[in-house]
Amino acid sequence: MGVHQGSCYCGNITVTVKTEEPFAETVPRECGCGYCTMHGAAWASTPNATLEIEIQNEAAINLFEQGSDTARFWLCQRCGVVPAVTCDIDGHRKGAVNANCMLERAEFPAARKSNPKELSADQKKDRWSDLWIEKVVIKDCWDVGL
Ligand SMILES: [Zn+2]
Repeated sequence: MGVHQGSCYCGNITVTVKTEEPFAETVPRECGCGYCTMHGAAWASTPNATLEIEIQNEAAINLFEQGSDTARFWLCQRCGVVPAVTCDIDGHRKGAVNANCMLERAEFPAARKSNPKELSADQKKDRWSDLWIEKVVIKDCWDVGL
């Protein structure tokens, strides 16, 4: 099992992707929405994986909702970096990581542009259901209703 780690700049939010697949060969997706463009985020995911999100100080994170309130961005309020995004689809929490926040960031192929804002809320959920990491585990969050 490969373990791929990353974090926000200050280390408050850490992300770990566990998968048998060569995760650093995944082509990241540069979402064309204003929020992702301003952050320079490039989202990487493969369905056959587990994403663990661990928070050191839950008072210093902000969950920003975007995309008709379907996607939830894990924003660190200390350093302003967004290492992960999650979405609850039919009771299952799926997610993706920001390739630029991963230790292996230099190994990922060049990102491809994507434009989910042209999709309806249902189309987005279908697409994310296919593409995103299928299991998300939130660790050490107790106070923010996660
Ligand atoms: Zn941070």
